[in-house]
Amino acid sequence: MSNRPTTAPHETSFIPPGADRCGRCGKAVYAAEKRVGGGGIWHKTCFNCATCHKMLESGVECAADNEVFCKTCYGRKYGPKGVGFGGGAGCLSAE
Ligand SMILES: [Zn+2]
Ligand SMILES: [Zn+2]
Repeated sequence: MSNRPTTAPHETSFIPPGADRCGRCGKAVYAAEKRVGGGGIWHKTCFNCATCHKMLESGVECAADNEVFCKTCYGRKYGPKGVGFGGGAGCLSAE
């Protein structure tokens, strides 16, 4: 019994050691496509609102549940001004 399966059933991509992982798709994020925001690291193309997929600019994202949202969707989902539920949710105010 020496033939181990070479492909893990739920692992579709190899994450290099030390590489950052995208909070949206879970794949490795390299410097050229890296966006930092909402307490996580994202691909440039993944850094958009989890609800409406509007592109987000750094500094205006609202973070909750390990996801990022635009202000509008965040407000709808979690209430205005990011009323805390004690779960570390927070909305950066750019105003
Ligand atoms: Zn991604
Ligand atoms: Zn949105």
